[in-house]
Amino acid sequence: MTMSERETIPSSERASISSQTAGPSLFENGLLRCINPATQETITKLNISTEQEIREKTDSLKEAQEEWGALPPRARAKILKKARKHLVERMDEVMEVIIDETGKTEFDGIIEILTTAEIMRFVSSAGPRALASEKRSMGLIMKTKRGSVQYLAFGIVGVISPWNYPLILAASPVVQALMGGNGVLLKPSEYTPLSALKMKEVFDEGGLPSGLLQVVIGGGDVGEAVVSSPDTDLICFIGSVKVGKQIGIACAEQMKPVILELGGKDPLIVLADANIERAARAAVWGGFHNAGQTCISVERVYVEEPVADQFIERVSQLARETEVGAQRSVCDLGSMTTDPQAAKVLAQISDARKRGANIVVGGRELPHSEGHFIQPTVVVDVDETMEIMNRETFGPVIAISKVKDADEAVAKSNSLTYGLNASIFTQDLKKARRLSRHIQAGSICINDVESNYLCVSLPFGGTGSSGRGRLQGIEGIRAFAQVQAVCEDRFGLKRELWWFPVSDGIKKLFRTLIKVLYG
Ligand code: NAD
Repeated sequence: MTMSERETIPSSERASISSQTAGPSLFENGLLRCINPATQETITKLNISTEQEIREKTDSLKEAQEEWGALPPRARAKILKKARKHLVERMDEVMEVIIDETGKTEFDGIIEILTTAEIMRFVSSAGPRALASEKRSMGLIMKTKRGSVQYLAFGIVGVISPWNYPLILAASPVVQALMGGNGVLLKPSEYTPLSALKMKEVFDEGGLPSGLLQVVIGGGDVGEAVVSSPDTDLICFIGSVKVGKQIGIACAEQMKPVILELGGKDPLIVLADANIERAARAAVWGGFHNAGQTCISVERVYVEEPVADQFIERVSQLARETEVGAQRSVCDLGSMTTDPQAAKVLAQISDARKRGANIVVGGRELPHSEGHFIQPTVVVDVDETMEIMNRETFGPVIAISKVKDADEAVAKSNSLTYGLNASIFTQDLKKARRLSRHIQAGSICINDVESNYLCVSLPFGGTGSSGRGRLQGIEGIRAFAQVQAVCEDRFGLKRELWWFPVSDGIKKLFRTLIKVLYG
């Protein structure tokens, strides 16, 4: 990013797209204010992208993509590998930017780099094979044909990303789209544009062909412009259910393909025979890391009655030992990244308290802090009518509900429309695997929590209102490619049997064939 991009006030002719999604203080006179949420200090100001700028960027993307899409997947993978190595060389500098604009702890910053590097490694190593043309069997009757499937670039992929993992959730779709031979127009969250600009700088300097990745800056209306642009051929959106639905509808109207990776309200089920120490530690880490601002964080726990008190006791003890604060290198949790998100979490806690829930640990913000540091919070005596049990919280809060058996736990897990991740803790693996088939979720962890995201050969995504489409795994790499079937004639005969004119003899032959082959 150049200084001029950072600080210049756009001229009055540059009709910047006004913004709708963030608080008014983020947007001023065509500029986006980048804030450190832990200190509330302004880091810098960026020009908000105009419609003209978006058009200019898609024009240059088209040129760059033409050459890139013509490269064999292996050559593209080699360049992505170089970009990954460059990211690792510059990881401290990248982490600094991420931590400053999110309020994360140092370790949560390290996780951003580790996860991104592992996704990039997988994409560049599995990509060439996932995208190679495949021969297909021609079945019983089309022996005179040769058939294959090829995976082609869409052209320009519009990626719209959220603020909670500003590097991972921008890099993952970007790298998979690039592997597929596409150019990318990235619109990062208005809360975390600097991480995306830094990623672009590092990838460009790491050898990505110039112009192939473009970043536009702004709020929801800039995102809308990316979706409605006639130049974007596929949209990959990572964010809330509410916005995901709007984008799904907008894409349907344009017949534009879309991948939607949306919110969740992930359950963790603890059965009576579980290793309680492991389950409690998993719940605490899964609920609180990154200040709970993780789409697959543990939000609701269903624990079988015989072990419920023991489990709640251990979770509460561990939660009290978990430290939240501004000292990024020693604390376990940093600040909330956005003011509206902090307000939403506190409102859900207060709603639960009013409706009779018991807040056994935490429940408040740290006093005398510039940012919003919410205490790790454990809530019990909850019921399904409370927002804390039926809406995404996206904060450091674990709500624990006692259930009589596994069937009740599964029924309650499935009682919402979300379906992103779920976890089951039990020593009985057979039972866990059987139950997993009855839980509505894109991914299930058994005796584990969230690890599936770092098992990058596994596809990741949701069911129901948590979205559609997959990232990562071979499925994710192929999601950014158009599937084209190719059917070739092998022998070049004068005609096929079914071409006009069709004689009585041919009809008779076909009747016999049907009986012999399929009867
Ligand atoms: P959000 O939906 O408010 O915003 C996401 C992005 O969409 C931002 O870049 C925003 O500017 C843009 N946007 C907003 N309105 C738009 C519109 N009308 N058209 C186009 N773009 C628009 O979400 P958020 O608050 O940034 O992120 C938090 C949410 O994301 C949570 O619900 C979380 O669960 C979800 N999430 C999901 C995943 C996943 O992989 N499933 C990962 C991370 C976060």
